[in-house]
Amino acid sequence: MHVKALVIGGGLSGLAAAIRLARFHDGILLLEKHSRPGGLNSYYYRNNRLIETGLHAITNYAAKTDKKAPLNRLLRQLKIKRDRIGFQQQIRSEICFQGQESLFFSNDFEEFLDEIQAKFHQQAQSFARLVSYIDSFNPFTRSPFLSARQIISGYIGNPLLVDMLLCPLFYYGSSWEDDMDFKQFVIMFRSIYQEGMFRPAGTIKDLLDYLVSHLQNLGGSIRYQAGVKRILTKNNTATGVILSSGEEISCDFLISTIGSEETTDILGGEKKQSADRRLGFVENIFLTRSQEQDLLPSDKTCIFFNTADTFRFQKPTNYVDLTSGVICLPYNFHNRSAADDFIEVRTTHLANYGLWNKVSDDKTAYLSLKKETAVLSCAQAESIIGKFSPGIIFQDSFTPLTIKRFTGKIEGAIYGSPNKVNDGDIGFDNLFLAGTDQGFLGIVGAMLSGVSMVNMHILPKI
Ligand SMILES: Cc1cc2nc3c(=O)[nH]c(=O)nc-3n(C[C@H](O)[C@H](O)[C@H](O)COP(=O)(O)OP(=O)(O)OC[C@H]3O[C@@H](n4cnc5c(N)ncnc54)[C@H](O)[C@@H]3O)c2cc1C
Repeated sequence: MHVKALVIGGGLSGLAAAIRLARFHDGILLLEKHSRPGGLNSYYYRNNRLIETGLHAITNYAAKTDKKAPLNRLLRQLKIKRDRIGFQQQIRSEICFQGQESLFFSNDFEEFLDEIQAKFHQQAQSFARLVSYIDSFNPFTRSPFLSARQIISGYIGNPLLVDMLLCPLFYYGSSWEDDMDFKQFVIMFRSIYQEGMFRPAGTIKDLLDYLVSHLQNLGGSIRYQAGVKRILTKNNTATGVILSSGEEISCDFLISTIGSEETTDILGGEKKQSADRRLGFVENIFLTRSQEQDLLPSDKTCIFFNTADTFRFQKPTNYVDLTSGVICLPYNFHNRSAADDFIEVRTTHLANYGLWNKVSDDKTAYLSLKKETAVLSCAQAESIIGKFSPGIIFQDSFTPLTIKRFTGKIEGAIYGSPNKVNDGDIGFDNLFLAGTDQGFLGIVGAMLSGVSMVNMHILPKI
């Protein structure tokens, strides 16, 4: 079988890349090793309930009138009508450093400026200068790693405010410990604080179903349970792939969205012992009886918290670091209500892949550690948002091992390698990288990555 272009990986970057290609050409095939699309952002069923795997909130909210906003550009490039998504905006979110300070932000940046003015009065002017610098900064140029922490600290003299500003950006997209590249910081500052957060109406399944049918209506195809075992090459050209089933498919162009080292592995490249310190996470999902809703905040969507004296965003020395994380209340979006019989609470913390991996040989020990982690995480969340455990009817947790098993990401690192390949060029004439390791993170970031790598490398040549 021969196709014009193959896209490896049916996550959001792969779906976006395939749709963009299918708008202009026949013979576009998306290969996904699982039986469902979505990758990190997918869903599963338990007791006939649909459970979302990844979604808290999507960054980069933009009003319809803001034609230049990344979200609207993305929708235009994919020929997706805004009404098809149904935007439900966050109510507001909180950065809560317990016993120290708390800052609220919403989709109205003025509210955040007011919060800084009220709670960090002496830093308000410096913050305004930082915002002007961010506004004038072009994050899409090639440059070596610039420490965001160092640059922000040059403006803001209060270390607590520096940590508070960084906390949500780390949790929603840093693959570095305690710092991030300033280019990435600028992209995420705009997408979280200046633009804001939303979720699509319905479930992630509704969005994924729509993206898949859109791809198919444009003439593209998707194949599930089609894991790529090997990318075939001749000199600097990729000629096709061999699937795990042994089937061979040749192609003219190829995009891989599975990660840079993961792609090198299936290119048959030399296996390097990964020297990076990749960051793993544990995600807990609690479904609790809707009666508990009255006891929980009704005006907070996500709470980015820290309970330690010093905020650490590091690979923990234990299985999980409960001192910081994110609590998400997915029913707290405008125009969204909880299901009739339950509400959902999600918690995220940093986790140590190596330790979870060691214990996984003993299934009983692994499962009991997962349960224990969920209990501790629930208690930590309750100390911040109020009690909900008496009504819990279902709970589940993903460790970095779960993420590795389902997406193939090395060490289950959601945000991939700290070494990004910003131009997607991995040394081939017709094979390029998109997705997490290209450097645009999160759901909108992953989709923009798929579109921009296709625009930059394939559409001009195909
Ligand atoms: C718990 C959790 C919470 C999150 N919360 C949010 C959030 O609230 N907001 C937000 O914006 N982002 C969130 N994210 C991050 C977001 O989901 C990801 O950044 C984004 O979905 C990455 O998309 P991707 O396409 O680059 O990668 P992936 O989703 O990893 O897609 C890669 C795909 O490739 C497939 N694959 C791997 N190897 C092969 C192979 N050899 N052959 C064929 N297919 C292969 C995998 O199965 C996978 O489907 C969250 C993620 C997680 C895990």
